[in-house]
Amino acid sequence: MEKLILSFNDFKKDKKITVQNDKLDFEFAKDDIVKGANLFFSFEANKYDDVINVVGNVKGTMSFECSRCLSFFEQNVNISFECSWTKEEFEYDVLKEIKETVLLNIPAKPLCKQDCKGLCQYCGNNKNIKDCFCEQNRVDEFVAEKWSKIKKLK
Ligand SMILES: [Zn+2]
Ligand SMILES: [Zn+2]
Repeated sequence: MEKLILSFNDFKKDKKITVQNDKLDFEFAKDDIVKGANLFFSFEANKYDDVINVVGNVKGTMSFECSRCLSFFEQNVNISFECSWTKEEFEYDVLKEIKETVLLNIPAKPLCKQDCKGLCQYCGNNKNIKDCFCEQNRVDEFVAEKWSKIKKLK
């Protein structure tokens, strides 16, 4: 589904339109932070005199690439949204509103876990899985080099 246009004319018979667990087609680029999405949206649209009000939510899962260790992980999504439009606006793309809400909720720097240790800058090892002591070795080398210089000076 590309668009979901609602207009005041759609509410002629009923003052309420309900959508339950419709699949949200979510497109993303290959270099996007989002690597996959399995999302469903529900909402209830109510018509009042001059205003239509929509209240709903998006549920499902999204997968991301961790910004520190580059591993893929899945996260549960549960986003509420609300929007409304007036008679002057005539019609309204609810799907666009839903997609924008989802986009706003995507983390700028997703983390597989809050204390992700990331990759070693020397050997590329994922430090969440095992320690590699590269940093400690660098410090040791640095200290040893300093000492050898000091010794030469003596
Ligand atoms: Zn991570
Ligand atoms: Zn390392």
